[in-house]
Amino acid sequence: MTLEPAANHTVSRRRVISGAAAVVGAVAAGSLITAPAAHAYDWTRTLRNGDSGDDVRELQIRVAGWAADSASRTYVAVDGQFGPATESAVRRFQSAYGLTVNGVAGAEMHTQLNWLESSDGSTRHFAFSEFHSKDGSGFSGGKVGASTVKENVRRLMYKLEAVRRKGGNNPCIINSGFRSVSHNASVGGTSNSQHLYGIAADIAIANRSVSQVISYCQTSGFSGIIRYSTHTHPDSRIEYPYGAQSWWWDI
Ligand code: ZN
Repeated sequence: MTLEPAANHTVSRRRVISGAAAVVGAVAAGSLITAPAAHAYDWTRTLRNGDSGDDVRELQIRVAGWAADSASRTYVAVDGQFGPATESAVRRFQSAYGLTVNGVAGAEMHTQLNWLESSDGSTRHFAFSEFHSKDGSGFSGGKVGASTVKENVRRLMYKLEAVRRKGGNNPCIINSGFRSVSHNASVGGTSNSQHLYGIAADIAIANRSVSQVISYCQTSGFSGIIRYSTHTHPDSRIEYPYGAQSWWWDI
């Protein structure tokens, strides 16, 4: 984990999330004396239906796990355009976290989004290391570069934060995250496994059955869901140009 040093305490700060859009935030004078916040993204404006930009894209990544109220083959497109699907996801997020439900991402929402984020760009309840290939290769050796894998994992984490919350905030165990090509082969994964790109995880939630976890995944924007005896495999195959772009719910 690396925290960028604050280069200038009086003007503005710039923090960069690997692979994600950076936003420069002018910091209000009142916050200058506080220690660096434990988050990596600076929200600079209220976002609402009709807005567009990199910050909308970032918002979409973070509410992507709130894609539907009931099992639906739908997802929040990460396209930087704040439309009805994004607004609905924001509303569900707000409801789930006890915020004012207005479909607008203002100060209260920003605070909650920051709470959910760790300073290294991971999320509150997940660490990048949990998603590393178990052969020791980190995010390398897959079918896309390590930086792409890391960004894909970051997006996956936000969906899993939603799944975890739907599961009563019980611990969510990552049995398998990203896999290098060689590790995937060694565990018998299919040759085009979504694990090779960092867009899949095999998960279990404490005190929740596989069927319950599947039901959470079905409202969290996952286009691939596979049932196993002791865990569930969610992935985002339809959002990525990796060759498996059909809905696949084998549940
Ligand atoms: Zn899997």
